[in-house]
Amino acid sequence: MIKYKKITTTTEEISSVKCDKCGKEYDAGDFEVQEFHHISFCGGYASVFGDGTQVECDICQHCLYEMVGEFYRCKEAT
Ligand SMILES: [Zn+2]
Repeated sequence: MIKYKKITTTTEEISSVKCDKCGKEYDAGDFEVQEFHHISFCGGYASVFGDGTQVECDICQHCLYEMVGEFYRCKEAT
């Protein structure tokens, strides 16, 4: 006979997302959240962020457009 004991687990879900540049916060159900850009990488040797540094940033589409507006390339959706 196998006996079981009760364990509790916690499940988390996103409630909101805040832009690290402008500070604006959007509720999880807002369509703006789908257009966020989440940067996450580890700096390599000679990285300006530091060798082995974990870099993370959440940027709203408006701030990203402001930052790369002059430089981005765009292809039409097919
Ligand atoms: Zn922003």
